Amino acid sequence: MRRVSVLGATGSVGQNTLDLLARSPDEFSVVALTGGRNIVQLAEDAIRLRAEVAVTAYDDMLEPLREALGDSDIEAQAGRASIAEAASRPADWVMSAIVGAAGLAPGLRALEQGATLALANKETLVCAGALVRETAARHGARILPVDSEHSAVFQALRGERIESVERIVLTASGGAFRDWPLEALARATPEQASSHPNWAMGQRITIDSASMFNKALELIETREFFEVAPERIEVVIHPESLIHALVGFTDGAMMAHVGAPDMRHAIGYALNWPDRRPLPVERLDLAAIGALTFRAPDPARYPALRLARDVMARGGLSGAAFNAAKEAALDAFLERRIGFTDMAAVVEAVLSRMEGEAGLFDAPMTLDNVMETDHLARRRAGETMAKRAG
Ligand code: NAD
Ligand code: MG
Repeated sequence: MRRVSVLGATGSVGQNTLDLLARSPDEFSVVALTGGRNIVQLAEDAIRLRAEVAVTAYDDMLEPLREALGDSDIEAQAGRASIAEAASRPADWVMSAIVGAAGLAPGLRALEQGATLALANKETLVCAGALVRETAARHGARILPVDSEHSAVFQALRGERIESVERIVLTASGGAFRDWPLEALARATPEQASSHPNWAMGQRITIDSASMFNKALELIETREFFEVAPERIEVVIHPESLIHALVGFTDGAMMAHVGAPDMRHAIGYALNWPDRRPLPVERLDLAAIGALTFRAPDPARYPALRLARDVMARGGLSGAAFNAAKEAALDAFLERRIGFTDMAAVVEAVLSRMEGEAGLFDAPMTLDNVMETDHLARRRAGETMAKRAG
């Protein structure tokens, strides 16, 4: 039996992961499941999958969690430290599917105990790529990509040498507003931004898809995961979301990964790696699909992509600041304190202000420094937004 844990089990990726685990009950024994305020879901899943421990991120949810677990012998825990502790319990495979920078510390703990980390939490590599790679190497742990584009690239690279790679092309659906007139974007509401044309995902990543901040994070994630030069990574709009990424080689050939937009593919690939096993995903009828289309992303519509290029060029702790400023701007957009197009403006202002704070982005990449940069960026974002409002 393989011992597995799922961090962020109650979310979109987490639930897809549990779906796969539940189909092979004889193969997996579940160590830890973690979640947030959705206690009923967390307890139900922990009981159904016979987890050893269930952890909510929130201290005030401990009692409700205990109650929901009833007379099962599953341990109940709460709080950030308990999530990290759960991640460090011995397991062979750990799914990192918490949303946001909160996923970084638990992921590092999983690597420190030598687990294979299935990484959906892209923020981990955006905030602390070098630290994460170094931690994995030091503990002989492996990281497998779960973000669909990165899983696609990883699969296209199988059996290839990284020196033969000329370019990596990430596809983007273009999000909810890809066909909106540019002038209308400033008035877009959180509700309008929360529907994705092709994928069913958590609300935050769905809005990030509309603003292209998701693809911006993925550019940085690609650079950090595959260690390729930023100029070799491209983004193309592909409204059908059937090609997840392409890799171009020095002989001019391109390998594309084609499949239905269903996260269980990328999750299952990471779960079964290095094998391929049958997965319950739709098989494509190419003749019925007819055509796949592509177009270049409009820089005026998607300033986030330019900001990601700045961050890749800057390196150091700028990724942590970029992500945190984006998270703060997204919070403000969700609370209707700023508009949709203000998000990129806020992130840009935070980055340029923090760049001016001597040596900040060049501090050593330790978890403490990353988290400090994260907190400072959130504070700077708050100040920037207050100034814009006033
Ligand atoms: P989601 O919002 O559906 O779920 C997030 C999970 O994290 C929930 O279990 C929630 O309880 C937990 N969580 C939230 N805040 C937390 C905190 N502060 N501390 C601890 N736990 C917390 O998110 P999602 O869409 O499943 O995305 C999860 C991660 O995977 C994100 O990093 C996202 O970018 C990435 N990802 C998601 C998809 C997708 O299809 N949804 C695809 C690729 C990558
Ligand atoms: Mg993705």
